[in-house]
Amino acid sequence: RVKVTGKNHYLLHSSDMDHVALKKLTLQHEMRRALSNKEFMLYYQPQYDLASGQIVGMEALIRWLHPERGLIPPAEFIPAAEESGIIVPLGNWVIEEACRQNKAWQDEGMPSIPVSVNLSFRQFSERNLTDKVADILEKIGLDARYLEIEITESMTMDVERASHCLKELTCLGVNISIDDFGTGYSSFHYLKNLPIARLKIDRSFVRDIQQDPNDAAIVAAIIAMAHNLQLQVIAEGVETEDQVHFLRSHRCDEMQGYFGSPPLPGSGVLQLLREKLNRPALPINMYRTAT
Ligand code: C2E
Ligand code: MG
Ligand code: MG
Ligand code: MG
Repeated sequence: RVKVTGKNHYLLHSSDMDHVALKKLTLQHEMRRALSNKEFMLYYQPQYDLASGQIVGMEALIRWLHPERGLIPPAEFIPAAEESGIIVPLGNWVIEEACRQNKAWQDEGMPSIPVSVNLSFRQFSERNLTDKVADILEKIGLDARYLEIEITESMTMDVERASHCLKELTCLGVNISIDDFGTGYSSFHYLKNLPIARLKIDRSFVRDIQQDPNDAAIVAAIIAMAHNLQLQVIAEGVETEDQVHFLRSHRCDEMQGYFGSPPLPGSGVLQLLREKLNRPALPINMYRTAT
């Protein structure tokens, strides 16, 4: 017999369970333990203004620092966290931790920039998400304009419900971005019905911008469309200087990717912000200033 305790108690015959199901239960149990053990941490990846080269935002990206398995990337546990519902307390922790870190940077005298947090749709089904966010901002003393929320297009989303929730968040002063733009199922439906401030062009379109004329056309079209809709647009997964040139020449607003910086722990970001305080931060000639 295998017994896994947690919020739900499972009591199952091991013979009834295949390896995958057992692994899933173990993972869910482990995540609950990890949450109370404070094993999750946030990395932050800078976002750069393409006109000035300055850092204008940070995306918070979760990692699990597992006592035996080391640093585990989100792809390996977020799906299970969503499925089991652990994403709700975990997601609340992410919002609070990102706000706390951002406030700490501001208190260190760093320029005030927004931190963006990835939200799972499961988190919208909590009726009090907006209250929760408002409480966190108030408790930490962070202005709502320094928190942004990223959502991905998903087939399972109830657009009506999400729209209501996102409007409330927008009223608080929190900006909403559509993440991985172009990879979902109903991009235009979302654009028409949700209060969106920014599109994030998925890195699958950015990757081959130089070699694939279709990708180049798609990226150029997304940038133009975003601007026609008065939306900001940021390219994800930018790895080369050539990609930066392409994006700049098409007037893309911002970029994020290894070319600028990989995601860093909070301490690394503070150092980066200190060095680059109000100075161009992209490693590229055209931004170099005489200081
Ligand atoms: P995302 O929100 O689209 O985040 C961007 C991912 O691309 C990150 O992977 C980042 O490390 C990676 N990346 C950034 N620049 C580059 C680049 O130049 N090249 C390449 N190849 N990759 C780059 P990461 O941190 O493994 O996160 C993966 C996904 O997990 C995220 O995709 C997001 O959907 C999800 N995720 C991360 N943190 C959270 C969270 O706190 N809550 C929820 N619900 N999902 C999260
Ligand atoms: Mg994201
Ligand atoms: Mg993305
Ligand atoms: Mg992604």
